[in-house]
Amino acid sequence: ERLNNDFQFLDVARQDPTKKPIDVRKAEFVEIYHPFTQPEVEGQSHRCLACGNPYCEWKCPVHNYIPNWLKLISEGRIFEAAELCHQTNTLPEVCGRVCPQDRLCEGACTLNDGFGAVTIGNTEKYIVDTAFAMGWRPDLSHVKPTGKRVAIIGAGPAGLGCADVLTRNGVKAVVFDRNPEIGGLLTFGIPEFKMEKTVMSRRREIFTGMGIEFRLNTEVGKDVTMAELLQEFDAVFLGMGTYTYMKGGFPGEDLPGVHDALDFLIANVNRNLGFEKSPADYIDMAGKQVVVLGGGDTAMDCNRTSIRQGARSVACAYRRDEANMPGSVREVKNAREEGVEFLFNRQPVEIVGDGTKVTGVKVVETQLGAPDARGRRSPEPIPGSEQILPADAVVLAFGFRPSPAPWFADIGIDLDASGRVKAPAEAEFSYQTSNPKVFAGGDMVRGSDLVVTAIWEGRQAAEGILDFLDV
Ligand code: FAD
Ligand code: SF4
Repeated sequence: ERLNNDFQFLDVARQDPTKKPIDVRKAEFVEIYHPFTQPEVEGQSHRCLACGNPYCEWKCPVHNYIPNWLKLISEGRIFEAAELCHQTNTLPEVCGRVCPQDRLCEGACTLNDGFGAVTIGNTEKYIVDTAFAMGWRPDLSHVKPTGKRVAIIGAGPAGLGCADVLTRNGVKAVVFDRNPEIGGLLTFGIPEFKMEKTVMSRRREIFTGMGIEFRLNTEVGKDVTMAELLQEFDAVFLGMGTYTYMKGGFPGEDLPGVHDALDFLIANVNRNLGFEKSPADYIDMAGKQVVVLGGGDTAMDCNRTSIRQGARSVACAYRRDEANMPGSVREVKNAREEGVEFLFNRQPVEIVGDGTKVTGVKVVETQLGAPDARGRRSPEPIPGSEQILPADAVVLAFGFRPSPAPWFADIGIDLDASGRVKAPAEAEFSYQTSNPKVFAGGDMVRGSDLVVTAIWEGRQAAEGILDFLDV
């Protein structure tokens, strides 16, 4: 019997969708969660208290109408729920999969007070996956074309967010990307066990059906110039991400067998998707003792990709403790379940080798000292606590710094001291750069962050562009 009453949270416990068996997860590059069933999603969504001032909505970076779509789905009104999800979010089924809900919407749920937050992310994913499978598509029949055209550089979440809002307002969006598929890091970064690539190919069909044009395999600055785009289009949006790899700055980082995280992940995706140019590009962890350095989402993805490639062992060394890891709690748990060994409070000081290849990582133990300028407690090495972690492959996952294009200066785009494009949210036209015709958002403006924050900035920049174009 299905329970549906105002005190459902007392009778029905929070439930996440079930996961596939560990031995399957350790071998397959497919999503690890089974989808919710309709009775499960109804039971879970009806646990929502419909708080008068929903904190989840405020904590969600795109301010989704969460309690409203939870109510619709609890009543089985899938198409209306999908429509509402799309009013605030360009890629709801993606965010449902990859957002760190524990520190966003679900972290703010009132039911965290001992009852367990509503499973918001998986419900968002369910609504949109189910609506698409049932044939629902965004309805743009009421949109009147304005005759304006905007070029978007980058088909990542920021560029797609911008293209979506422009298209819904009658502006033609033409999206350029150097990659052969849309998605940015969603396709060429985040692995399939978090989000299968069919999610993005389905989106490409939907966006194309909405009237967005994609020009893929096209690098701006090489295959087409910015001057041409500024000439041809009424405005340009930059959503080009951040692609300078951070280094540790210690000896041995250039030894054979030491890899940058994104090189490793992209090579794996390229093989799985059939985009591999040469088999030599693939980085194979089969049978190896792998040490991953870092504690964010990228590190978790490298850990779990190594496991699936058949690594003999995977150890992840991070310089702070578990409570201070930047990665999503859920993904750390998933990595641990799949056999990753975590070594906390270990700071790498050197990568050691035998002259021809890596043989280990020298780490020193740390203790957490006083908070730094951002309030994070900085790790301090404990003298004499060095040890060598044996390794025949090492992955550096220290994050990314901005990667401004050389042609930014030619078109008058100002950067801040760290190389991020200056495009203030509070400008007269939000996210406008120092070149009035050019807008920007996502990682290249805020520094590497999240899918959902990139979507938000792309959407907000589209609002700025609409005001600028006066349409
Ligand atoms: P990107 O996604 O980087 O997209 C930029 C696009 O611009 C790319 O497709 C690039 O090819 C294109 N481009 C750049 N220059 C040019 C040019 N000159 N011409 C044509 N095209 C160009 N976030 C989460 O929320 N959850 C996660 O679980 C998560 N996991 C992550 C795992 C990894 C391994 C990484 C690296 C990041 C992860 N992130 C995660 C962060 C998230 O992916 C990014 O914050 C987000 O993708 C940024 O979006 P963006 O649109 O700004 O940039
Ligand atoms: Fe939560 Fe992300 Fe969905 Fe917002 S977009 S409701 S933060 S899962």
